[in-house]
Amino acid sequence: MWNADFFSRKVIGNYRLSVFVDWAIVALAFLSGLLHPSPQIFYDSMLRIFVVLVVPLFSFSFLIYRFSEKYGSRIQGERDKFPPIGREAFGSARAMFIVACMAAWPTGMYRIGLPTGLAWSLSEMGLSAWMVVLEMYLGIVAVDAMTYWKHRLLHTRLFFPFHKHHHSFRDPTPFAGFAVGPLETLLTFWPLLLICFPPAKHFAPLYFSAIIGFVFLNLYLHCGVTFSWLEKILPRVGLNSSAWHNVHHSDVNANFGEVSSIWDKVCKTSRADMNSKKQVASA
Ligand SMILES: [Zn+2]
Repeated sequence: MWNADFFSRKVIGNYRLSVFVDWAIVALAFLSGLLHPSPQIFYDSMLRIFVVLVVPLFSFSFLIYRFSEKYGSRIQGERDKFPPIGREAFGSARAMFIVACMAAWPTGMYRIGLPTGLAWSLSEMGLSAWMVVLEMYLGIVAVDAMTYWKHRLLHTRLFFPFHKHHHSFRDPTPFAGFAVGPLETLLTFWPLLLICFPPAKHFAPLYFSAIIGFVFLNLYLHCGVTFSWLEKILPRVGLNSSAWHNVHHSDVNANFGEVSSIWDKVCKTSRADMNSKKQVASA
């Protein structure tokens, strides 16, 4: 009894600490602009980026939500109550605020004429078209590995309080696509800051296309329905599908991949693998 009480107090204490750390990250991300070479341009950029992120994100979330509920096949059966869209949208807006703060660093530098890693032409990249495509592909493979291991870390007892918010949506809608806590936002989107460094060249046309593609993929992964043609195409091109990621929301401890399912297969953390591990353990 004492142990259980001690444990629950520890978990609650951990949760309170995570709430404090999370809101401290929001405040520090905002205040970091005071250290920018031009704080005024930083805050102007941050506000513009926030609007440019949130308005299309929520417009597409709404359209995809309505379209998917009408024409898709529900994965977890009919919803028995209205989804918590307000809470989902709050979580996504908070994450986009931190993303806007991070993106305002290189954007502000670019606007005041300082060198950044953003290149708009192949000559600026100093690479052939094929090399740029290969570099982008390797970048996506690296992001997939990074987000998989970040997600495994967030499922450890110590870090789960920082990830709990996203798992409060067991049957999500597209509005929950980016509804992750501030620490998780930082661990996912920190590569945006690499653009501040001129040697870390990013080919802007491909880079922004990949980001837009990732946003749409993520909205589909959280819409709670499947479209058979997408479920066939996405795994064939190495990407995650809605059926695959929805399992992570309903079962929590399986299917951790955020871009592809490759790492789940390599590390045997798919639902099928986790089920057979449970069977072996209970035999
Ligand atoms: Zn998770």
